[in-house]
Amino acid sequence: RRSVVLKRRPGGEPSRGDFDIREDPVPHPEAGDVVTRTIWLSIDPYMRGRLREEQTYATAVQIGDVMTGETVGEVVESGDPAFQPGDLVVGARGWQTHSVTPGKQLVKIRKGAAPLSAYLGILGMPGATAYAGVTEICKPKPGETFVVSAASGAVGSVAGQLAKRAGARVIGIAGGPDKCFWVQDSLGFDDCVDHRSIDLRGELHAACPNGIDAYFENVGGAVQAAVFEQLNPFARVAMCGMVSQYNEKTPPPGPNLGFVVGKRVLIQGFIVSDRPERLTEWRTMAEPLVAEGNLVYREDVIEGLENAPDALAGILTGRNFGKLLVKVSPE
Ligand code: NDP
Repeated sequence: RRSVVLKRRPGGEPSRGDFDIREDPVPHPEAGDVVTRTIWLSIDPYMRGRLREEQTYATAVQIGDVMTGETVGEVVESGDPAFQPGDLVVGARGWQTHSVTPGKQLVKIRKGAAPLSAYLGILGMPGATAYAGVTEICKPKPGETFVVSAASGAVGSVAGQLAKRAGARVIGIAGGPDKCFWVQDSLGFDDCVDHRSIDLRGELHAACPNGIDAYFENVGGAVQAAVFEQLNPFARVAMCGMVSQYNEKTPPPGPNLGFVVGKRVLIQGFIVSDRPERLTEWRTMAEPLVAEGNLVYREDVIEGLENAPDALAGILTGRNFGKLLVKVSPE
């Protein structure tokens, strides 16, 4: 089996040189464990946090350890009677061609219900993240203006579609004309503002003439500053992530939040895994919507496990267009 292990902690943008490829024999499972062959590996912005020395909300990957990440895989050998070779599962982790996982951490995928890769994106952790932030914090109402950043991405694309289904006017923020076009044309958002525009504030104001009632924050930085200025009284802000600063050694100085008092703004952070049952709830709800084409998604596929470090570097700077995945082996 081949594994990508952490060689050194990156100072800024991660690169291939920060990782080593390790080869060892595919192990046989102990009782209760299951060996899977990785088909799809998910690449997500949170992985940058796991490369830091200091503790974030989750444990750091140690030097010499296999890099962490969600996968979809096929069972090749099982020490757990609940799983048979050929079963397709989510729940095995790691940037590696084969994983050994306790059977109780694995969930079987119903064959044919949706494309396998969707279980790492719209039907997986990113989809459940969007669902949590929109329904529990942003709570968009008909006629309100809802804004989401990284709008063409795995989380943002779902968040905006959910707000649209709730009856809100939905404005995306994304990097570049191609992403903005797709957000409006394929996702059906009412407008999309390019954050690379020289007049981000002005364009956001033009797209949100009645101000902003709910904001789903994925990026931070200049985008956040522009949105915060235009929040309405009683606006809700779901703090999902701030990808613009994940490569920074020290975070940039924060905004002045004095306006939050006078405008009675609610700003709340959340982590999708706080409530693990949410993922099952979301998957059950979203599977038919995806099958009927009522929830749209886009994937960006990189071939080959050895290219995972480049993929991670790319998602932190916007080179991905849609849910980023590494195809590790054939379906
Ligand atoms: P995406 O597919 O959205 O990819 C990240 C995107 O961020 C890039 O494509 C890019 O889009 C945008 N971006 C990168 N750098 C910048 C920058 N400097 N300024 C503005 N935009 C930038 O990733 P995900 O959908 O997987 O994740 C989106 C966010 O959700 C991240 O912040 C992530 O950490 C967070 N998250 C939080 C979870 C939680 O439990 N709280 C769980 C899962 C994800 P563009 O080209 O449009 O700028």
